[in-house]
Amino acid sequence: MRLCDICGSEEAIYTNYVTGASLCANCLMNSIRRRAWSVMKRELLPGDKVMVAHSGGKDSSLALLLTKEFSDEVRELDLKVISVTLDEGTLYRRSSIELARKLAERLRVRHLTIQMRDILGFSLEDLRLAIPKGWKRNACTYCGVLRRQILNAVAREIGATVLVTGHNLDDLIQTSIMNLVRGDANALVKTMRHERKYEEGLVPRVRPLKYVYEREIASLVVALGIPAHLGKCPLAQGMRIGIRREIDFIEDSNPGSKLRAFLFLENLSSKMKVDVSLRRCSLCGEPTTSDICKACQLRGEAFRFMGIEDKNIRLDSLKSLKDSAFQS
Ligand SMILES: [Zn+2]
Ligand SMILES: [Zn+2]
Repeated sequence: MRLCDICGSEEAIYTNYVTGASLCANCLMNSIRRRAWSVMKRELLPGDKVMVAHSGGKDSSLALLLTKEFSDEVRELDLKVISVTLDEGTLYRRSSIELARKLAERLRVRHLTIQMRDILGFSLEDLRLAIPKGWKRNACTYCGVLRRQILNAVAREIGATVLVTGHNLDDLIQTSIMNLVRGDANALVKTMRHERKYEEGLVPRVRPLKYVYEREIASLVVALGIPAHLGKCPLAQGMRIGIRREIDFIEDSNPGSKLRAFLFLENLSSKMKVDVSLRRCSLCGEPTTSDICKACQLRGEAFRFMGIEDKNIRLDSLKSLKDSAFQS
């Protein structure tokens, strides 16, 4: 048994391959908490109504736990926290919803499950079955874009002032490299900036785990037995997979590369002047950088595959939550 290099008394469960230090679950938690709290201290504001996008996976589960802990500890901020799980209607999601509910209950956080089908008129499973063979996009692409739009709409409709997500360092460096190779400077700046920008209709996002490696999160969640799904979505496909493989390869031979590259891009994008002001999508009214938002473009395709007339997102099911979601 190897002992923790920090406290010297507990069994080490994680080795930091940049510093070579081995950490026990407690000391790893302290290290992750320090990074997450520094983000929350900088980006959360007094009186914030925080909606945590809680899929039940390891990242968002840890994000919920740390956000709740933060709101309990830093009482003067008077934060209100709610956990929301979007059910895309896939088999994969079914088990993680149960875990999400369990964790929220354990933390005494109100938990809501929102059905993708209620908002869009179809589930991801309906869509997956309807996509024609050989089509250029797969269900994963639709899911990512539509989920993002729905979560923003839900946050706005229930009166959240900020949306917390579980994105970790690995996710964000992959996204930034994808933005780089697409030449999309606007998207890069939007991913990186940490000042709160108020754009009508767009709920600001806070990512407490942005400086935390995915493998740190996985080790901690397992060691502490936090109720969370550890698997990866079986539908994941596309450009991200290749980029992830390349970045992991670089990190393996140059430990610390991900963090250094991320901090560099963060610093660079804070100096970049790009137009990230938003317009309203002419179809759904959601915030977008073009005339018709990406979600509406993809939703249009989805409806076509399923042979239904294009319809807007339906937010009626959220009306009843408008004033009650953050009431304790
Ligand atoms: Zn320790
Ligand atoms: Zn739209």
